[in-house]
Amino acid sequence: MTDKQDDTPKTTFAALGLGPKLLQAIDEAGYDTPTPIQAEAIPHVLLGGDVTGIAQTGTGKTAAFVLPMIHRLEQGRARARMPRTLILAPTRELAAQVAENFEKYGKNLKLEMALLIGGVSFKEQEQKLMRGVDVLIATPGRLIDQFERGKILLTGVEILVIDEADRMLDMGFIPDIEKICALLPPRRQTLLFSATMPPEINKLAQRFQNQPKKIEVARQAQTAETIKQFVVKLSRDDDKAKRTALRRVIEAREVKNGIVFCNRKREVDVVTKSLIKHGFDAAAIHGDLPQAYRTQTLDRFRDGDLKLLVASDVAARGLDVPDVSHVFNYAPPPKDEDYVHRIGRTGRAGKKGESVTIVGPFDEKSWAGVVKMIQTDVEELMPEGLAEEIENLPEDTGGRKGGRGRSRGGRGSDDSRSGGRSRGGRSRSRAKDETTSDSKPAEAKDTESKTETKPAAKSDDKPAEKPRSDKPKSSRGGAKKGSGRDKKRGKDELAPASDAVRGFGDNVPDFLKR
Ligand code: AMP
Repeated sequence: MTDKQDDTPKTTFAALGLGPKLLQAIDEAGYDTPTPIQAEAIPHVLLGGDVTGIAQTGTGKTAAFVLPMIHRLEQGRARARMPRTLILAPTRELAAQVAENFEKYGKNLKLEMALLIGGVSFKEQEQKLMRGVDVLIATPGRLIDQFERGKILLTGVEILVIDEADRMLDMGFIPDIEKICALLPPRRQTLLFSATMPPEINKLAQRFQNQPKKIEVARQAQTAETIKQFVVKLSRDDDKAKRTALRRVIEAREVKNGIVFCNRKREVDVVTKSLIKHGFDAAAIHGDLPQAYRTQTLDRFRDGDLKLLVASDVAARGLDVPDVSHVFNYAPPPKDEDYVHRIGRTGRAGKKGESVTIVGPFDEKSWAGVVKMIQTDVEELMPEGLAEEIENLPEDTGGRKGGRGRSRGGRGSDDSRSGGRSRGGRSRSRAKDETTSDSKPAEAKDTESKTETKPAAKSDDKPAEKPRSDKPKSSRGGAKKGSGRDKKRGKDELAPASDAVRGFGDNVPDFLKR
C-alpha cells in the first residue's frame, strides 16, 4: 500500500455499494477498509464509468476492478464463446493472480471464468468458453491467436480491463491491444491500470476510453518510506566480483527472504546456480522456465519454503509476494522506473524492508539515472572485507567487461529497453514470456562453472523477457544504437568480440580466411 493511503478518509466496502455476497467474501478475506484506489474506483466502476488507475501492485488495485466487476456480473448470463468481460494482463503470472482474485471474491457467486495464458491447456479453457464465461483473463498474444482461430467472439464484451499497461508497452503488446480493442463493441466500459503513464499509454487511454476518471494513488517514481535503500559500489564489473558481493551482502544483512533481480535470463540462471553452489536456498524464475516450475517456485517462495527468489523483471512484475524482507539488484535495472517496481516488492503494507543494489563501474550511468529519478540519497554499504576480497579475486574471463557493452552511454541495449520497448507502438512483437519453453530450471542444470564456460545456449543469452520480434522495432533513448549492436555482436556475451582478421584490408590471405 502506498503512503498516500493514510491521507484518505476511511470508508467501508458496504458504503461503496457492493452487494452482500461480495461483502461476505471481502470479510472472509480479512479486509475491513478499502484502499484508496478501491475507495475511489469501485463506486465509479459500479456506475459504468471508465477508469484510468495509476497504481502499482500492492495498492489493492486488483480488487479495485475485480470487486465491482463481480458485482456487475451478478446480473445477466454468459453466452457460448462470448465472454462478458475481458481482462488483459502482460504475463501469465499476473493473469493467474487476477484469476485467483476472482475466485477469492467471487466464491459466493456462480461466475464462470476462463484463462488464456501460456502453460494452461487450451482444451479445457475452450470447453469453458463454449459453455459461456463471465470473465476471460488473457495475455494479448494468446487471445489474438485463439481469436484468429475462430474460437472466441469478442462482440459480447461489456467491460475491458487493461492491467499493467506500461508493462504491456515494454513487452511490445500495444499493437495487439489496439487490435483487440478494435474487435470489442464500442459501447463498453474500459478500465486501464498502469504503474506509470508514459505518453504511449496516455494515447491509448485517450483513444480507447470514454472520459475516464483518473485515479492516482502513488506518484510516479515514488519509493516507499518503509524501504531502506543501500548501494554497494564495486571497483570491478565482472560477474565473479558481483556474485561475491551479492553473497557477502546477503550474509551481512538479516535476510528473512528476498528477491534478487537480474537483467537477463542467463544472469538469473547463473546467479541462482552460484547461490545454490554456495549453500544458499535459491531458485530462479524467468520467462524461459516451464510454467509448472515457475508456479511451484512462486508457491514455495510465498509459503516461506524458499528464501531467495532470483528473478527477471517481467517474471516478477506485479507478483503479489507479501512480506519480503529484502530486494537485491544484481545491477541497476535497464529502465529507471523498474527500480521503483523492484524495490517495491519489499516494505509493503507498512512493513519495513531493505533494498541493496550492486553497482560496478559499468553500472554507474544506470545508477546515476536511478538516483536522479528517485531524488533520494542512497546510503553506501560495504560489508567488511568485501573490497579486499574483490581486489584479490582472480580475473573472471566470462565477465561483464567488454562482453556486455551496456549502453545509454553503455547500458540497456541488452534488455527490454531495446528489445521490448516499441514505443512507436507499431511493433508486432509478442513477449517471450508468453511462450512455453522446455528449458530446465537452474537447479536442474549443470554446475556454475560449466555454465560460465559453455557456449551461448539458444535462450540463455537473451535479455530477460526480450519479446519475440519479427520486425525491427523503434525504441526510446539510446536503445536503437544498442539494438544494432546486439544484432552485430550476436547473442553470446561470452564469445570473442570478433573473429574477423584485421590489418589486411581486402587482401586477406586464403589460409587466414579458413
Ligand atoms: P494488489 O495491489 O491488487 O496486487 O494487492 C496487493 C495486496 O493487498 C494483495 O495481497 C491483496 O490481497 C491485498 N489487499 C487488497 N485489498 C485490500 C484491503 N482493502 N485491505 C487489505 N489488503 C488488501
